[in-house]
Amino acid sequence: MAEGERRGRIGGRSSNPYHEDRKFPEPTVCPRCHLVYRNGRWQDGNSPDKGETVHSSHCPACRREIDRLPAGLLFLTGGYLDMHRDEIFNIAKNQASAAAAHRPLQRIMWMEEDKGTTEIATTDSHLALRIGKSIESACKGSLTIKHAEDTQLVRVYWQRDA
Ligand SMILES: [Zn+2]
Repeated sequence: MAEGERRGRIGGRSSNPYHEDRKFPEPTVCPRCHLVYRNGRWQDGNSPDKGETVHSSHCPACRREIDRLPAGLLFLTGGYLDMHRDEIFNIAKNQASAAAAHRPLQRIMWMEEDKGTTEIATTDSHLALRIGKSIESACKGSLTIKHAEDTQLVRVYWQRDA
């Protein structure tokens, strides 16, 4: 994990007005993605036992997906992107898969292209940072990170001209 990512976490957790810090009764199952909340965190697997009282509530990632309210936004621009689109998109998808293996609440919500800018929205700010840093390390270019204090939304800008 990169240093900047760790710093981002501390700032992001402390006063999150949204859903990530909320506690749920255990076990709670998300009806949308079927993650299970147990031992204080949402996890893949660890299904409830027979006879257990199971609660139902959307997990924080699904809430953000339903509300279309990302925690991280990554913007990709520059002529280099046109020539290496597949490579760059694969980096994003691979990073999302790697993150999801241990952190199932970190997901890509959408990848959209509009007027030369590709926007990648994530349910967790760390995933946007992770993808941006991976693209920077693989493709060079420049990376700018902007934390919005009021909304907790992290915006990451990557640019490389051809
Ligand atoms: Zn869910």
